[in-house]
Amino acid sequence: MSRDWLAGCKSEYDIIIIGSGLAGLTASNMLAKNGHSVLLLEQHGNYGGLATWFTRNGGHLFDISLHGFPIGMIKSCRKYWTQEIADSIVQLKHIRFDNPQFSLETTFDIVDFKRILKERFKVADKTVDDFFSTVRAMNFYDDQSMTARQLFEKFFPGRSDVVRLLMEPIAYANGSTLDDPAITYGIVFSNFMSKGVYTFQGGTNLLVKKMREEMRRNKVDMRSNATVEKILVDGKRACGVRVNGKNIKAKCVLSNANLKATVLKMVGPENLSKDFLEETNAVRLNNSSCQVYIGIRKGEKIDHVGDLLFTSTLPYFDSDALCSRNVTSRTFSVYYPDIRPGSDRYSIVSSTNANYADWKDLSDEEYAREKKKLIDESVAALEKYLPGVTGKIDHLEASTPLTFEHYTQHTQGASFGTKFEGLKVSMNLPNEIQGLYHAGSVGIIMSGWLGAVNYGVIVGNNVDKYVRERSAATK
Ligand SMILES: Cc1cc2nc3c(=O)[nH]c(=O)nc-3n(C[C@H](O)[C@H](O)[C@H](O)COP(=O)(O)OP(=O)(O)OC[C@H]3O[C@@H](n4cnc5c(N)ncnc54)[C@H](O)[C@@H]3O)c2cc1C
Repeated sequence: MSRDWLAGCKSEYDIIIIGSGLAGLTASNMLAKNGHSVLLLEQHGNYGGLATWFTRNGGHLFDISLHGFPIGMIKSCRKYWTQEIADSIVQLKHIRFDNPQFSLETTFDIVDFKRILKERFKVADKTVDDFFSTVRAMNFYDDQSMTARQLFEKFFPGRSDVVRLLMEPIAYANGSTLDDPAITYGIVFSNFMSKGVYTFQGGTNLLVKKMREEMRRNKVDMRSNATVEKILVDGKRACGVRVNGKNIKAKCVLSNANLKATVLKMVGPENLSKDFLEETNAVRLNNSSCQVYIGIRKGEKIDHVGDLLFTSTLPYFDSDALCSRNVTSRTFSVYYPDIRPGSDRYSIVSSTNANYADWKDLSDEEYAREKKKLIDESVAALEKYLPGVTGKIDHLEASTPLTFEHYTQHTQGASFGTKFEGLKVSMNLPNEIQGLYHAGSVGIIMSGWLGAVNYGVIVGNNVDKYVRERSAATK
């Protein structure tokens, strides 16, 4: 008989949370801490969503999305998780760029970037200072019609090298392109520039373990292998979910699953107004990713060649080329033993942005061939920075947009949620269906580890208020 993953669940909770990505986890924890009964439902066998890892024979462990996040994570983790989690966040100091236009190393913060732009790229002091003041002042309520391309053209006309330095890492961090609103670039770039790039010492596995311990202390009812099929709607109000074929009631539902899947599949067009349905259908998804996981044999060592290497053989930055299957640009994250104190192992993850459409219709044979090509080309590219590394590798494996779709159920394997217009749909969901909220990668701004955690907090606060008011009204 198959296991009942919902055994012991109550028939009703204050709040049901669908999905255990960083937004879902953070909202679950803060709401349970505030005294609400919370049921967290995760379709996968593990918690964390894209903040995840996997192990392989030979003692290999690979992190999927632990490449770097802004310093803001320390404050958010201290406030909404624990001091212990916040204390394990450390800076990555060696960020390298290597492409036909320039080759340099930086700490990726405002002081170093200003220095590089002024001294190395010979941009006038005032232009550099004005650019940083402009992007730092950007916020959600600004003019949204200016694109990143127009922003760069205004400050650095004809300087494709400067555009590449400023844009390429952010394109990897949130999938944004030169044609997305400048604020989606400016907000995320400024977050990184405030103090550089950070990581979690101990790895994703330790972070999620500590988060689960904290949720257990706060009495979140956590269920894995629990797929929500439907959000139950009574009139225009969310009243529970159908999960693994069983109905469970709730005063409020918060979905951390993909925005379009939440609205179009779990709620369903039958429950939506025509305008809201049209608006949701018009939301564009962000791109997906490919990765190559490179395991170094036990006992072997590799030199320190930087923590994050943004590499490219393309003559100039091009948003489309960054996603192409014939990839010319990739980021290597090098994990040295100190990422997991006590370990003596090294691993490398090569990440590229990717289009779902390029991968979805391949035959099994073509798919296997393209994956092998991706692996071979990534290892060949790595040889430039670590000569002889091929002889030290004893595990190689690749993921594609289909892999991300499979493990997270994100429509088209979207890595960073939706384009900007998705934020409005996500924020307006409770106006369409009372008691139904969405928090998770959306609108480019609310993505990445910090964006997801912070959006979980923002929406969690709205949920808290709604449930309190509803409880008071029904007393
Ligand atoms: C390759 C890659 C590299 C990245 N690198 C970085 C990086 O270096 N730094 C950074 O800050 N960010 C990075 N990101 C982005 C970052 O990982 C994500 O933006 C963030 O983790 C997303 O969190 P989330 O809360 O939106 O939820 P997600 O992680 O998207 O999780 C959603 C959860 O919902 C679950 N779910 C979906 N449907 C259902 C259902 N019907 N029932 C139950 N559960 C369901 C899924 O299984 C999943 O667990 C990277 C992403 C990728 C793909």
